[in-house]
Amino acid sequence: MAFDYDLFVIGGGSGGVRAARLAAAECGAKVGLAEADRMGGTCVIRGCVPKKLMVFASAYREAMREAADYGWKVSSAGFEWQRFRTRLDTELDRLEEAYRTTLARAGVEIHDARAELEDPHTVRLDGGRTVTAKHILVATGGRPEVPERENAGLGITSNEVFRFDDLPASILIVGGGYIASEMACILNGLGVAVTQFYRGAQILRGFDDEARGHIAGIMADDGIELRLGTDILELSDEGGGVRAKASDGSERVYDRLLWATGRRPNTEGLGLDRAGVKTGRRGEVEVDRYSQTSVPSVFAVGDVTNRLQLTPVAIREAAAFVDTVFRGRPTAFDHTIVPGAVFTQPEYGYVGLTEEAAREEEEIEVYCTSFRPMQTAFIGRPERVMMKLIVNRGSRRVLGCHIVAPGAGEMIQLAAIAIRMGATKEQFDETCAVHPTMAEELVTMKTPIRTA
Ligand code: NDP
Repeated sequence: MAFDYDLFVIGGGSGGVRAARLAAAECGAKVGLAEADRMGGTCVIRGCVPKKLMVFASAYREAMREAADYGWKVSSAGFEWQRFRTRLDTELDRLEEAYRTTLARAGVEIHDARAELEDPHTVRLDGGRTVTAKHILVATGGRPEVPERENAGLGITSNEVFRFDDLPASILIVGGGYIASEMACILNGLGVAVTQFYRGAQILRGFDDEARGHIAGIMADDGIELRLGTDILELSDEGGGVRAKASDGSERVYDRLLWATGRRPNTEGLGLDRAGVKTGRRGEVEVDRYSQTSVPSVFAVGDVTNRLQLTPVAIREAAAFVDTVFRGRPTAFDHTIVPGAVFTQPEYGYVGLTEEAAREEEEIEVYCTSFRPMQTAFIGRPERVMMKLIVNRGSRRVLGCHIVAPGAGEMIQLAAIAIRMGATKEQFDETCAVHPTMAEELVTMKTPIRTA
């Protein structure tokens, strides 16, 4: 049977665009791609990219204070959101255009349309037109999830933060994950009075306990009102603001309420049932290690599969899909030892196991140091950085590395290479230190602080 396309990709985010480009440009496949919104998806349009630019913007407040302590004459009349927003919009337009150009150059046919599956080889575009494809890749990503509760609609999600007309004077952020904690730090840095409610005992559940405590302590010292073991009981409209009654009975009016309570795969109305594609409890597309769904011609990559919701993971899954299907080399992306960074202030870079997870599996030694880094100790700042290595007592392999420090995201990338290669603690220690840096502590920790 002749198909219109060799591959039809639904979704123009990180995963979809990478798969489409590789299949078309490097494997000579005839590829179509449908995107209903802006090209670039969550990462480029309403995630990593605008978030990181906001991290940069917000960090200047602290940088200016530090510059003054170093002897610079600094004066600031404050932060102008509109000026930043205009630049941000221009940059996102530029990136979106770059994605379109790259796809077009690779020969991918772009359909600015919503698409849904009609059957295992047919996609219906809005407007009613159908196209057929030998393979279909679902890469529709995810979207913020808002709790089902009365007046939840008074709140916004991370999507809307990047579209603020003006910065609010105060905000209540609900959640304790990546987005809640990153947004709390960003908005606090930009001068917004931030309150963060987290229902559990400590933010960033699932990450290394010591790192979590370290970050939460500095966030609170920096002025974020972090309320642990706290949830919302009631919400009401208060003339433009939101009145929130907390689970401890206290009440306050905030200019804005931000739900950062997780993300859900975008699978509704995609026709997956019709095509026979199985989905899981949270609506995620179920896939095997080759990203193949229950229907052999349909694959899925990225957040829609709810494996690890990270851009580089979606990109690797997409590349592995292309190797498997178009290069005849079955390739599965290895979801273990994936490094990452949480862009709180201070930043957190991690790779491998947490102390808590490692302790469950094997006998370990824990090396950890916390110190005031040269740059800020010089001006009498109290903030400390933290570096931690988890080591297997028998094999001596470094199982995990956790860094809470300015630039931790950059440092962890390099530690991740060593850890993926199976480096031992002794090989870390044989590596000569780079002096004077913070990262040199990674190769100079001599005595374990704990064994377990
Ligand atoms: P997370 O799953 O990380 O966090 C959700 C938070 O909301 C948790 O603290 C959770 O609490 C809380 N929560 C969930 N439901 C409710 C509720 N009904 N009421 C109150 N609190 C609730 O989701 P995020 O949205 O922060 O991020 C989604 C994903 O996006 C991340 O997992 C990550 O993979 C990715 N991401 C990555 C970034 C990076 O790489 N730097 C940055 C931003 C996002 P509890 O812990 O109790 O379940």
